[in-house]
Amino acid sequence: MSFMRWWGWGHDGCDEPLPETSRATLFALLGADDRPPRGVGAAPEPIPAVPLTPPVRSACDPHARLLHSMGKSSRDLLHLRMGRVPHAPDAVLFPESAEEVAEALAWAGREDVAVIPFGGGTSVVGGVDARRGERRAAVSLDLRGLARVGEVDEESGLVEAQCGVLGPDLERLLNASGWSVGHFPQSFEHSTLGGWVATRSAGQNSTRWGKIEHMVAGLRAVTPGGEWNVPALPARASGPELRELLVGSEGQLGVLCDVTLRVHRRPPAMRFSSWFFPCFDSGRDALREMMQAGLRPAVLRLSDELETRLHLTLSGADQKLGPRLLRAVGAGSRLDGCHLMAGFEGAGTAGDRHAHAEQRCAGRIARAGGGLPVGSSPGRHWESERFTHPYLRDRLLDVGVLAETFETATTYTRIPALVDAVREALEAPLVMCHLSHAYPDGASLYFTWFADAPDPEQALELWTRTKRTAGEGLAAHGAALSHHHAVGHDHRPFMAAEHGEHGMALLRAAKRELDPAGILNPEKLL
Ligand SMILES: Cc1cc2nc3c(=O)[nH]c(=O)nc-3n(C[C@H](O)[C@H](O)[C@H](O)COP(=O)(O)OP(=O)(O)OC[C@H]3O[C@@H](n4cnc5c(N)ncnc54)[C@H](O)[C@@H]3O)c2cc1C
Repeated sequence: MSFMRWWGWGHDGCDEPLPETSRATLFALLGADDRPPRGVGAAPEPIPAVPLTPPVRSACDPHARLLHSMGKSSRDLLHLRMGRVPHAPDAVLFPESAEEVAEALAWAGREDVAVIPFGGGTSVVGGVDARRGERRAAVSLDLRGLARVGEVDEESGLVEAQCGVLGPDLERLLNASGWSVGHFPQSFEHSTLGGWVATRSAGQNSTRWGKIEHMVAGLRAVTPGGEWNVPALPARASGPELRELLVGSEGQLGVLCDVTLRVHRRPPAMRFSSWFFPCFDSGRDALREMMQAGLRPAVLRLSDELETRLHLTLSGADQKLGPRLLRAVGAGSRLDGCHLMAGFEGAGTAGDRHAHAEQRCAGRIARAGGGLPVGSSPGRHWESERFTHPYLRDRLLDVGVLAETFETATTYTRIPALVDAVREALEAPLVMCHLSHAYPDGASLYFTWFADAPDPEQALELWTRTKRTAGEGLAAHGAALSHHHAVGHDHRPFMAAEHGEHGMALLRAAKRELDPAGILNPEKLL
């Protein structure tokens, strides 16, 4: 089993350099002086472990405990760079079957030990922090030993998979028999099926194939009180859909072991189109019209002015793509405005015909809304780099620049006021936003902010203040606390504002019923 490096994204030896020009642009925009990169120090040592004798294979060496002590938010990375490990598990358990998960939970209940389910550990909301709450010790339950993927039921388009399987392994196995899940979060390379389901994750192609909750037909969880099986059914009217209690339960109610997923025939290559709109509002209107006309591009992403400009510069695309595109469209000397990118795909052999028809229809809507078509190269460029940004975050931290994101979802009517309010409220000097994961009634808004923060302590304070400002702002505007990053520890204070008194009471009652001793993932979600 291989692990990501302790201080950042990816495995040792996998790096994405930050080009000099990109760095210079960013420092200029931040109004700060460029500085040489700082390396990360030695790996910090977690505090001594409480001695435990778990019933399944386990490790309690400092490095294994460090790797399972937290996720991959900027807060986590700052802590690690400062040599701090606020919470570390006393041991890491590696079960290889649902039966071993059940044994581990029974043992933890008897021994008063907190259990933190751990998939890929890519949480950005403190979801895998090794907090023990009121328990005497804590263990991390690394689920990657549960990684079997069954045969596709070709008639129903379903596959049963164990929850610890990593994204690339799942997709590769399905592709080999001509199928796909079509779930590609930016963290795809290192996140697991169980983590996706436990956090209601969204992949970059979700506008066509749905979020993970739309792909889950059935599942099996092991709870401290026993097994809970939700059979795979296309639909039902037998009372409320209880499957939804487990989807998004963030390790609070049980350990997800198997999921039956809806899969589709592997699509041919994606067809891309792009347009430049004079402003965010006109781009948003075109995107909305596409969705309300029934189109479902896999990717539909509208960047605001700053993100458009920054992406073109940081990726070098203004040099590589700009002049050619500008010549092609006979536009002025700069690609200004807001970039709307769409990627179309359909399932199986008829997929390309379907994609082509949608592409033509979207083109008509975009042009009627004032969009300037700029071809397919921006989309292809995005596709080739879709998983590289997390590496750049580490490179930016090396030079004392904090790059952080948060996301939400709201209705089209509320988008303009929300975007204005966020821009006004955040103290970071550079805030940019894109609209993606579109629906007929609204979309997800994804904010990225940058700050010159060479002192990690001050960076951490800024991160904490911004998290609070963002949470309060989203609640005040009735927007979702999260569209796909989930709640974890960090967003927990804002849960009641979204779900209300009755909603929170129901969730707590479910927790009491399924985990009466409160051993599962303390201080998260609820
Ligand atoms: C750079 C970066 C980019 C990201 N991009 C996206 C994105 O595009 N879309 C998106 O949705 N998210 C994204 N995320 C967030 C994160 O990757 C998702 O939340 C992902 O679903 C977590 O999967 P994981 O396997 O890493 O879970 P973990 O981080 O290990 O766990 C997440 C939560 O789920 C619980 N959990 C994990 N496995 C199980 C299980 N089998 N049973 C019960 N509980 C479990 C954990 O206890 C924890 O509360 C990104 C994160 C990073 C760092």
